Amino acid sequence: MSNIGIDLGTTNSLVAVVMGGRARCLLDDDGHAILPSAVRYTAEGTVVGFAALDDAAGHAATTLTSVKRFMGRSMDEARAEAAQLHYELAPPDDAAEEKVVRIQVGERLVTPIEVSAEILKALKERAEECLLGGVGGAVITVPAYFDDAQRQATRDAGRLAGLNVLRLLNEPTAAAIAYGLQERSQGTFAIYDLGGGTFDISILRLEDGVFQVLSTAGDTHLGGDDFDRLIAERLLQAAGVVGARGGALRAAMEAAEAAKRALTDADSTEINAQLGEVTAALTLTRAELDTLIRPLVDRTLSACKQALSDAQLSPSQIDGVVLVGGSTRVPLVRQVVQEFFGRPPFSDIDPDQVVAIGAAMQADILSGESELAEDVLLMDVVPLSLGLETMGGVVEKLIWRCSPIPSSASQTFTTHVDGQTAVAIHVVQGEREMARDNRSLARFKLGGIPPMPAGLPRVEVQFMVDANGILTVTATEQYTGKQSNIEVVPSYGLTDEQIEEMLETSIDAAETDVDERLLVEAKVEADQILRAVEKALASDAALVQEDELSRIQAVVTDLKSAMDAQERKKISDLSKKLDEVTAPFAQRRIERDLQLALQGQSALEVAERLDRSTI
Ligand code: ADP
Ligand code: MG
Repeated sequence: MSNIGIDLGTTNSLVAVVMGGRARCLLDDDGHAILPSAVRYTAEGTVVGFAALDDAAGHAATTLTSVKRFMGRSMDEARAEAAQLHYELAPPDDAAEEKVVRIQVGERLVTPIEVSAEILKALKERAEECLLGGVGGAVITVPAYFDDAQRQATRDAGRLAGLNVLRLLNEPTAAAIAYGLQERSQGTFAIYDLGGGTFDISILRLEDGVFQVLSTAGDTHLGGDDFDRLIAERLLQAAGVVGARGGALRAAMEAAEAAKRALTDADSTEINAQLGEVTAALTLTRAELDTLIRPLVDRTLSACKQALSDAQLSPSQIDGVVLVGGSTRVPLVRQVVQEFFGRPPFSDIDPDQVVAIGAAMQADILSGESELAEDVLLMDVVPLSLGLETMGGVVEKLIWRCSPIPSSASQTFTTHVDGQTAVAIHVVQGEREMARDNRSLARFKLGGIPPMPAGLPRVEVQFMVDANGILTVTATEQYTGKQSNIEVVPSYGLTDEQIEEMLETSIDAAETDVDERLLVEAKVEADQILRAVEKALASDAALVQEDELSRIQAVVTDLKSAMDAQERKKISDLSKKLDEVTAPFAQRRIERDLQLALQGQSALEVAERLDRSTI
């Protein structure tokens, strides 16, 4: 069985595999490496790739292209782009939750996940035909800026296609791997990716064999299609066609694309195209093309400047530039990128194929039987959130799902009761709000905290997931410096099925979860206020007036019964009210404490008193 790498692109998709120590893209029967990311829905089923694009103009409404734009997006987000589509989105539906985009294809509604799954299925079949031993797992690439939902949608599309998705890999990282950049000890790289409809620039930093994304920028509506549009306009103009639509426009675009490709190698090209009734002929030179597209190419440089400034770098601090995407074949693009970064870019590998090749190399390394490299690369994201159980069994997430690794986060916690000398740290993984509904990874205790009033100790808990996906949790009490830690391996303890199941239940249970969490939080907060008030009343009774005392006690009674009745809204309201009615009393105590401080009390005593006064 061989693992495969897949570049699931907006315009084109590819599949690659490592054979005999070398990564290569698999070809279709006609010798094409690329599979256009187009799916046509017919009465008999689906047609994918070049066949779907054949006479696309005649089947505009049923030929779906560029659905990657809608992966993991909501219907609202998709509607903003609807005007530019040649197919229809589903009509608004009040009843349905419009979290997922639905496309209307005849009578059917399809989601971008299903459409992507058709593309992935076609690539999987291609791989099955080429690989005698069968297809093992797959690495699928995604843009570096893809968020949780977009990554999840991509993973789901893979599963729907019957693929065992080993990992989602950032496209720029895949390109860097294809050039073997991870074999260097370190460096900072710019990955310039100009495809059919999108431009992405990513700045990566390599350290210890791991790439980190420092910044990304780009334009989701800038690519080779825009070059084609400018040439098509010129062609239509020359033929005297005004306001071309439908078939004529499509034919002009196709002729334009062919001319653009020709000008990548030649200085001049003849365009002859049948645009509806009209026959158009035009000679276009490379220089004319350059003038036409120059403003678009300049726009990519603005994004490059943005990405560099976000990463706080200048072009000269970049150790290498990688060209990705079919449109980086255009000579003007190469020239301009080289001038901007002041160095020739890496361009030996076919820019169409470079991402798929990197994905295949990563897939091969994950098989554990790679001839390519043994000790590198576990560039990954955290599959499920990592957090701590806090008071009341609620989870405080420190590292969120899909954070790229290595990753670290820390947060300061405090004690809940006076004189508490140890805290129990319970590390959990999962998306649910309550600790008991997540997977328990580890428990340990940080002891030796000097007895202090509740809320005064500062326990800093740090989570660190290293490049191998190993989580280390460290707890440090900040006054004493006392430390305790533990190492846990999160991701490999879970099977994919478990992850899937957990995600499903967390989606199902999301609403009840949130309610429960809010209730517990309200109770914990109320409990803290009550304790503080009761303690203050006991120690400083002299500072309370009588009518004030009865008002405070009335609220305390109400709050306690609201807590017994689990009434969240009441608990929060009454907690707030208790805060208000005790405010003058608290103020008096603070003033008194300050007086004591001025009279030369020890700093610690004052701190303790001041802390107690925070009701
Ligand atoms: P995506 O990543 O968006 O799926 P690709 O990287 O496959 O896209 O790039 C597709 C774009 O590359 C198309 O606009 C296509 O016209 C352009 N392209 C492909 N080959 C050439 C070439 N030889 N010269 C100029 N442009 C090309
Ligand atoms: Mg691409």
